[in-house]
Amino acid sequence: MFTKSIKSNRQRILEILNKRTNLTVEQQRALTRQTAGYQGEQQFYKLLKERISHQPIALYNLHLKINGSECQIDCLLIFQNEVILFEVKNYEGNFLIEEEKWYTIAEQEIRNPVHQLHRTELLVSQLLNKNNFPLKVTSLLIFINPNFHLYNTPLETPAVFYPQLNRYMEQLKNTPSRLNESHHRLEKLLTSSHITNSNFESIPKYEYSSLKKGVICANCNGWMSEHGNKSMRCLLCSTIEPFEKSLMRNVKEFHTLFPDKKMTVPQIFDWTNHVISKYRIRSILKKHSTWIDAGKGSHYVLEK
Ligand SMILES: [Zn+2]
Repeated sequence: MFTKSIKSNRQRILEILNKRTNLTVEQQRALTRQTAGYQGEQQFYKLLKERISHQPIALYNLHLKINGSECQIDCLLIFQNEVILFEVKNYEGNFLIEEEKWYTIAEQEIRNPVHQLHRTELLVSQLLNKNNFPLKVTSLLIFINPNFHLYNTPLETPAVFYPQLNRYMEQLKNTPSRLNESHHRLEKLLTSSHITNSNFESIPKYEYSSLKKGVICANCNGWMSEHGNKSMRCLLCSTIEPFEKSLMRNVKEFHTLFPDKKMTVPQIFDWTNHVISKYRIRSILKKHSTWIDAGKGSHYVLEK
């Protein structure tokens, strides 16, 4: 749960794996979908920020477990009398609805997003009822992509399409949003119900030994090597940056992929494929992380 839109853990992992191993076709597709989804969420976040900033309480990327069931919410707004849930879709191209089933124009069936949305709405209503918050809960699909069209859309579809977004933002702007302590209690309840290890996110399997080691360039994903005494240089695009910056970016990626692996100098030396000396790794890690002294199990822990 966050106060702004962020990348999912799954997307971050797929992005790193994409640089260090060959993704399967399915993983490639998942990454493309995740990236498009994230871009859509970012656009919606920006729109809300520009148009209705400092009015309702806004929470993004919530993963809740309610009565044993999990649900995921791209964006949740708490107004004076109501709570609105948003599922942002960045679909592109022509889609079609037939007897409650959704298809791409290539006749490939996709999961009906309205069903998922109603389920989430029901769960959130149950949570609010149980905790005596007398707010109405509604939910909407936001189709953020201007190049999306949905044929046969039933009138009652809970959706805002790209050409309607402007007017919808006006409507939100005029929604009563005088908030009191009870609204903030609800915010606390939601944030405390947020779970970090969600079953919703299926993380691909990978092993340390099968990943390519080395220092990767932020600009082009090429490999980097030592350049003089202070910096590294990309072998592909010639970007030059200080050791510290290159190393810490790659250390953070290591930690994203292997949060349970102990971060030690030999470990990072191996991860970077020996292109940065152990001496230098030690001094940079010292600066950016905390040393946990535990005899043979001593290691560094990244600062938040
Ligand atoms: Zn590069």
